[in-house]
Amino acid sequence: MGRDRHSNAVLIIGLGRFGGTLAESLQRQGQHVVAVDENRELVQEWSGTLTHVVEADATNEAALRQLGADGFERAVVAIGTGIEASLLATGVLLDLGVTEVWAKAITRQHGRILERIGASHVVYPERDAGERVAHLLSGRLTDFV
Ligand code: ATP
Repeated sequence: MGRDRHSNAVLIIGLGRFGGTLAESLQRQGQHVVAVDENRELVQEWSGTLTHVVEADATNEAALRQLGADGFERAVVAIGTGIEASLLATGVLLDLGVTEVWAKAITRQHGRILERIGASHVVYPERDAGERVAHLLSGRLTDFV
């Protein structure tokens, strides 16, 4: 697959709660999404909702190359708990020349390593959600003061 083919698409690695929600939202907004997960059951589950879902190990460079990952400009590594897989998949995407790699981190340490290996954006969904809820709650609490 040529580089131009996926230049406006987003490659999403991992269809857990974060990656699945992200992939579905982007597709609903009209973005071309290709989602990858190594879990066959999850891939089958999502294939009813997402147009392009592929079963592959994202730490395997040859597998990612085969599905055309080197033709993407934007990718999101939505693996959190599996820190090793998160780092390896991020490294493989960067090696393949993906320009913008977003990666999910579960701890500050995890995020720092992702930044050091070259992830362009590191997101902390749990931390961000906690801050958002605190903000919403404190707004409500001041209504009662
Ligand atoms: P959630 O978004 O549900 O909180 P999480 O942060 O706990 O997820 P993981 O469960 O580690 O993250 O991974 C998310 C998804 O990524 C899972 O569906 C898992 O199957 C998939 N995944 C993990 N490692 C790989 C890999 N090497 N290749 C492809 N997919 C992977």
